[in-house]
Amino acid sequence: MKEKKATAVALLSGGLDSTLAILVLLKQNIEVKAITFLTQFGCDISDRSSCSRNPFPAAEKYGFEVKLSHLADKFLEIVKNPKYGHGKNMNPCIDCRILMLKEAKVYMDLIGADFLVTGEVLGQRPMSQRRECFPMIDREAGVEGLVLRPLSAKLLPPTIPEQKGLVDREKLYGFKGRTRKPQMALAEELGLVDYPSPAGGCLLTEPIYSVRLKDLLEHNPDPSYNDIHLLRVGRHFRLSPEAKVIIGRNKEENDQLKTLVEDGDLMMRVDGVGSPITVMRGTPGSDEIRLAASMTARYSDAKRQPQVTVTVFNKEGLLYKIDVQPAEDALLDRYRIHYEPRKKKKRKRAAVKI
Ligand code: SF4
Repeated sequence: MKEKKATAVALLSGGLDSTLAILVLLKQNIEVKAITFLTQFGCDISDRSSCSRNPFPAAEKYGFEVKLSHLADKFLEIVKNPKYGHGKNMNPCIDCRILMLKEAKVYMDLIGADFLVTGEVLGQRPMSQRRECFPMIDREAGVEGLVLRPLSAKLLPPTIPEQKGLVDREKLYGFKGRTRKPQMALAEELGLVDYPSPAGGCLLTEPIYSVRLKDLLEHNPDPSYNDIHLLRVGRHFRLSPEAKVIIGRNKEENDQLKTLVEDGDLMMRVDGVGSPITVMRGTPGSDEIRLAASMTARYSDAKRQPQVTVTVFNKEGLLYKIDVQPAEDALLDRYRIHYEPRKKKKRKRAAVKI
């Protein structure tokens, strides 16, 4: 068996680019130890809609090690206060890359690896993959010269592993821009067939999710994992700074809400007809409880009845029942935590001199 030339720590999201970057190095007989970072915001290997996916099958198939690392509170901190700001939504991509590289460097030092690898492609993402961003991100993370980006390496200055001859620069690539065609062709060449579509991103890039998260952080700067997880489920309404309501949209969401409910939450439903499960979190007053009950009635199959009896309960069991009128749509809209797309500014036409 050929002796390995060097060892690299690769940041692996499980997507096409990061997997390709690893395969390119394996082809050069470089040992790869991958690290997959998990966060509270969907980079979760159990959630196939997120930007991350289970990295273990690829690791087994292609013969590299992978370990999972949850960024936990460190990640929440940069979402709340990103030094380099948020992207279009709540995504702090530059801070996120810096944090991941810093963590990867700790692992690199720990196992005595030689350099770091990412699947980043120059110009593919507007925020963190601009040419001027790479050196700045590497400097901030304390990994200058140590990050090899094999898919765009030929367009970037040579890194330390290239200068040392650990990696053959000639066998790296010069991909750039948003097109994924070169990556797809390379995937075919390397026999990589099972990779996720690029559509899924981390939840922080989703406008509706981001609006909900912003509302949560404004009212609770120190949310629990459960508070954050709840943002993925149901319709969300802010009734007051102290109280919010989540209403399930279907059976699956109702079941999810039942598993996420905590001590201190109120739940509601309309018995005897098709009904959502409502979760009320915070410290609501009696008016807010009535309002939440009328919303629950509105989304139940009894919504056309003039008066509906709503059951209020908690984790322990039945509390009481209240009679309410189903809420009007205008009332729902008033309290809904909703996303308003930014209005496009009308471009002024340049004056034409005749
Ligand atoms: S989309 Fe941005 S914030 Fe989300 S995981 Fe990717 S780099 Fe990080």
